[in-house]
Amino acid sequence: MMKKDILSMYPEELRDELTELGHPGFRADQITHWLSKGIRSFEQMRNLPRELISALNDGYHLYEPKILEKKISTDGTVKYLWELCDGNAVETVIMRYRYGNTVCVSSQVGCRQGCAFCASTIGGLVRDLKASEILDEVVFSQLDSGLKISNIVMMGIGEPLDNFDNVVRFLRLANDPKGLNIGMRHITISTCGIIERFDELAALGYPVTLSLSLHAPDDETRSKIMPSNRSRGVDRIMDACSRYCDATGRRISFEYAMIKNVNDSDEQAFLLAEKARKTHSHVNLIPLNYVSERDLHPSDPAVINRFREILVSKGINVTVRRKLGNDVDASCGQLRRRHISAEH
Ligand code: SAH
Repeated sequence: MMKKDILSMYPEELRDELTELGHPGFRADQITHWLSKGIRSFEQMRNLPRELISALNDGYHLYEPKILEKKISTDGTVKYLWELCDGNAVETVIMRYRYGNTVCVSSQVGCRQGCAFCASTIGGLVRDLKASEILDEVVFSQLDSGLKISNIVMMGIGEPLDNFDNVVRFLRLANDPKGLNIGMRHITISTCGIIERFDELAALGYPVTLSLSLHAPDDETRSKIMPSNRSRGVDRIMDACSRYCDATGRRISFEYAMIKNVNDSDEQAFLLAEKARKTHSHVNLIPLNYVSERDLHPSDPAVINRFREILVSKGINVTVRRKLGNDVDASCGQLRRRHISAEH
């Protein structure tokens, strides 16, 4: 019999399981308490009766992710590479901002989206992460670093909306007052534009922020660097973003990695301004992180500044994102890539 993934269960599901095992519901709260503290063995749940511990061991699976690598940047960014129960590896980054510590979590092992500039997708998709595995990225990076996490961004490895059910489960578990208790408004989901899922996400009624990885305002460029654009197109994606904003009242953020001679022309800045202004939005310009496997380079700082000024002159809300953790490969699947290459 396959053991069940207890950490991915909602509190009410856990209660039902315990009732079925013939134990009172309050045991569920005790178990949740230990799980939220990072206890990953039933023996260590000291207030549970012996027969319950033995039933839990028989029917349920618990695993503590192991640190394969930990790197601390000069700017305080901490990056972890975790080993999962089947030997796969994912990475998690803690970034320290003035307003609090933000953890950037992976949602899949690898990714099937094939974006030209991204290291996460190079080996394709290996598998989805379970809700428990995403949750443990937060629990154990918080425990190990001693840094209290106040914000979560789903901007690590993977496309969260390709792993929708597990990601939704993760959101609810991270938000649970008895667990991590992180407000939905402090959680951001980043997507390359899987618009088929936007309405479903809005319908949940969770006020999470949606971040759209745009990277080009015209279909020719975007389809070249992001294959997922080919069947959808920039305009349909921007319309879906507007609908998401209208439904949730949340401002959307457009991510734009500046790639030399690819998406950094004046015309593209004007076109981006024209399209972004239709939505209650914010544009984040990010100098491309050079990935050694790809022949793409960041735009020059002067070009980024000019691009920014065009957007500002058109009334667009724009920031240039500060680079954090560059010295520890803290971007987009680079640590996992290096780990895989070193193994082969
Ligand atoms: N699949 C989701 C979330 C993961 S990627 C998405 O596409 O949004 C997190 C962000 O990093 C995305 O905006 C992605 O486009 C960006 N990114 C990937 N590789 C990058 C690189 N080399 N330099 C800068 N940003 C990059």
